[in-house]
Amino acid sequence: MDKSTEQESKEQDFGEKPTSVRESDHYQDEYVPGFVDKWDELIDWESRAKGEGNTIINILKERGVKKVLDVATGTGFNSVRLLQAGFEVVSADGSPEMLVKAFENARQYGYLMRTVQADWRWMNKDIHEEFDAILCLGNSFTHLFNERDRRKALAEFYALLKHDGVLLLDQRNYDSILDQGYSSKHAHYYCGDSVSVYPEHVDEGLARFRYEFLDNSVYYLNMFPLRKDYTRRLLHEVGFQEIKTLGDFKETYKENEPDFFLHVAEKE
Ligand code: SAM
Repeated sequence: MDKSTEQESKEQDFGEKPTSVRESDHYQDEYVPGFVDKWDELIDWESRAKGEGNTIINILKERGVKKVLDVATGTGFNSVRLLQAGFEVVSADGSPEMLVKAFENARQYGYLMRTVQADWRWMNKDIHEEFDAILCLGNSFTHLFNERDRRKALAEFYALLKHDGVLLLDQRNYDSILDQGYSSKHAHYYCGDSVSVYPEHVDEGLARFRYEFLDNSVYYLNMFPLRKDYTRRLLHEVGFQEIKTLGDFKETYKENEPDFFLHVAEKE
């Protein structure tokens, strides 16, 4: 089998006991080409952009941000929105498949995306510039399964920011999933109608989400259920001075209500 055929037929493999897969490196095997291709069906860009509004762009503009590093580019949604809004953007991801897809998506919107393949834990090896802002969005940080990896990644992000830089990092409201069970209004991220998303298994160390598409294909992501205050504490501990956490893009909310939290972490 030649390499490209091998790539296309690559399937997700969680082994015999999927709920025992709790590794930071496993994301590379989870975002297989079939899933990556369907990802944009899952995240309907137009309704997602409508749901999000301009919160992120406004946060960046208010701070006079010009140069942004998107560390979790995925298929490119956040990077392309920023390019459209006139920011200078470098788009990084640990997965080469994701970057290929993101580059193609950006080209369709008329942009030549600047991509870098880099793992969060060793970003400074591959990226030698400083940024006004770093984005880690789309519930991406949840892919790290141990605290050492989380601290390492956040320290790498911190080092890539200018002295007055800001990190925008979001996550699902896992507190509510762990304590109350899953309920999503699908308002912000999973707004394509063509997919059903739910956590098949949840415990303090794993949230295993199942994604079923209209053609009955099924994929999974194994993620670490970050509690909100734990993420805030880690951000403080790596050196971020000021951390504001929005719930579904609003400043005031009841703890159980939002589907997503957005942490806005300032370096000074
Ligand atoms: N931000 C995009 C969005 O909101 O549409 C999607 C992000 S996708 C949910 C998560 C991305 O994080 C994947 O593309 C995956 O390859 C990347 N990723 C996960 N762990 C990583 C790591 N340790 N280093 C670099 N990238 C990683």
